[in-house]
Amino acid sequence: MDDKHRDKMLGLGRRMFGGDVTFIKGAVSIDTLPPMEFGEVAFAGRSNVGKSSLINGLTQKKNLARTSNTPGRTQELNYFEVGVEQGAPVFVVDLPGYGYAKVSRSKVNEWVKVIKKYLAGRANLRRVFLLIDSRHGLKDSDKEIMTMLDEAAVSYQLILTKLDKLKVVDRDKIVEKTQAEAVKFIACHPIVIGTSSEKGWGMDDIRAEIAEIATN
Ligand code: GDP
Repeated sequence: MDDKHRDKMLGLGRRMFGGDVTFIKGAVSIDTLPPMEFGEVAFAGRSNVGKSSLINGLTQKKNLARTSNTPGRTQELNYFEVGVEQGAPVFVVDLPGYGYAKVSRSKVNEWVKVIKKYLAGRANLRRVFLLIDSRHGLKDSDKEIMTMLDEAAVSYQLILTKLDKLKVVDRDKIVEKTQAEAVKFIACHPIVIGTSSEKGWGMDDIRAEIAEIATN
């Protein structure tokens, strides 16, 4: 992206997420997903990685993701519609979190089954944003998901969360380290986005990526 185009996407992204963000539905099964009328991007990550905070941070709406993520409904795929007024409509999907310590192996397999079906069935899926806690870096379970995404040939991009929790000197290091690992995965975007929902860092970058996707 040249600077002029990037500025355009930053502006559009800001307007898209500053405008109406509509909760469409929490789909409990792959058979009940909304029709593929727009392109879509999905957010995935281990439980507690900061996914709800990030989605709320993007939309600047405090409880958007959390309200739809009430306990007992956490296995839903939550659909939001963004950018309709701006002529850049896109579905933003909050996928159920994975790898929660209390969840049994069979629950994890269940998650994998649902997600595999989702990845195979959504022709309009343009990118998965895979969230990684910057304090922990890539875990084996994250790498398993990355391999699964590679195999499904779905393009995805890593987002480091909670960067504010790291010492200043460690922030660039973890971004570089994660980037060095990312390039080993075939369908993984080579640029890793560093974020803090708490401080608002990186929100513009993600919004610009989504604006670019929505207009292509
Ligand atoms: P989810 O389970 O992935 O949806 O994670 P949440 O968004 O609920 O966040 C899990 C915990 O991490 C909560 O206590 C958040 O307040 C905290 N958290 C999330 N994002 C950030 C961040 O950018 N900075 C800091 N310091 N804490 C965060």
